Amino acid sequence: METTSIYLDHNATTPMDPRVLEAMLPYLRDKFGNASSKSHAWGWAANEAVEAARESVGSILGAAAKDVLFTAGATEANNLAILGSFPLRSAGGKTHVITSAVEHHAVLDTVDELRRRGFESTVLRPDASGGVSAEQVRNAITDRTLLVSLMAANNEIGTLNPLEEIGAVCRRAGVLFHTDAAQAVGKIPLDVEAMQIDLLSLSGHKFYAPKGVGALYVRSRPTRVKLTPLQHGGGQERGLRPGTLNVPGIVGLGAACRIAQEELGAEAARLTSLRDRLYQNITSRVQGTRRNGSPTAGLPGTLNLSFEGIDGTALFLSLPDIALSSGSACTTGSAEPSYVLKAIGVSDRLAMSTVRFSLGRFTTEAEVDQASARVADAVLKLRSRLAAVSGAS
Ligand SMILES: *Cc1c(COP(=O)(O)O)cnc(C)c1O
Repeated sequence: METTSIYLDHNATTPMDPRVLEAMLPYLRDKFGNASSKSHAWGWAANEAVEAARESVGSILGAAAKDVLFTAGATEANNLAILGSFPLRSAGGKTHVITSAVEHHAVLDTVDELRRRGFESTVLRPDASGGVSAEQVRNAITDRTLLVSLMAANNEIGTLNPLEEIGAVCRRAGVLFHTDAAQAVGKIPLDVEAMQIDLLSLSGHKFYAPKGVGALYVRSRPTRVKLTPLQHGGGQERGLRPGTLNVPGIVGLGAACRIAQEELGAEAARLTSLRDRLYQNITSRVQGTRRNGSPTAGLPGTLNLSFEGIDGTALFLSLPDIALSSGSACTTGSAEPSYVLKAIGVSDRLAMSTVRFSLGRFTTEAEVDQASARVADAVLKLRSRLAAVSGAS
């Protein structure tokens, strides 16, 4: 049988949509101007393209364009949102941040940095599906709380947080609400007004724009969120993110937002049905699987499965032609079980035999069928080999 390579790791990064690349090309060729150049046509063309992209990013978030700042990605946006909310000398005794144990490292490590700077943090434990409730947030808020930072959708297990309810709790308590929406933008509907979000981070390469570009939404109305910049320089992006703008990347991000906004409804339905097909295909052949995350409040294209009684490393080695993610992180060369799976109560042993499938815009039904057959074959083969070994000993 001919084996073809199948990419099912879209939560790590996506390919660029050809339409995105097409939109960017002129800005990599003759429209190469600096968007800050105010005295000639090259600069004007670049600036116009940046402002059009700002409109598109604002539009997919239900936000005003002027509240969108371009960054190099979600890591930088998270750093600016979290560190930038806490000035060096805390104003009015506001010294407390609330986050959760399943956030991306770009949030967790930034909150660690706040702690080193003398601020306090509360790290909420999610429920067994990986979500945090508005009730938990309400109970954790004190009169010193300045910021709540909770992700829109988890990158490993796909669980969605109840943003609208959390936003309402934060607004009522007068606390800023930041969400890392790197996995949510372009995949599920978001609205910074309905969800009462004050700060929102997004990343281009998670929804078919290139790597190295992202954005931070910063609310200006009814009250402006005051941020302290992390970098200093030429005053671009209202002085909050100085540096010459990445015009081609920003144009790509704008195109990606326009495409995603137009296709979101149909694409979410398509990915949900492909994900369910993947799950059915595998579980109809393989017993002893555990599905991690929420079966009801999850990202359309994400499926996280633990297979009892197999070695995850052996499974990955036997599937070289399928791009998947494991339930472990390689820190300093040794494999550690994922902290996200640990936080939702998956044993270390089971975490090490976990696979994350993340489907995307160009994933086909044929690919899903091939991948599920190959994964099921590999799991069953590893199990029978293990049974033979333990039977022989
Ligand atoms: C990918 C990702 C990030 C980091 O985004 P970059 O643009 O690669 O810096 C942050 N948070 C989540 C949830 C992500 O999935």
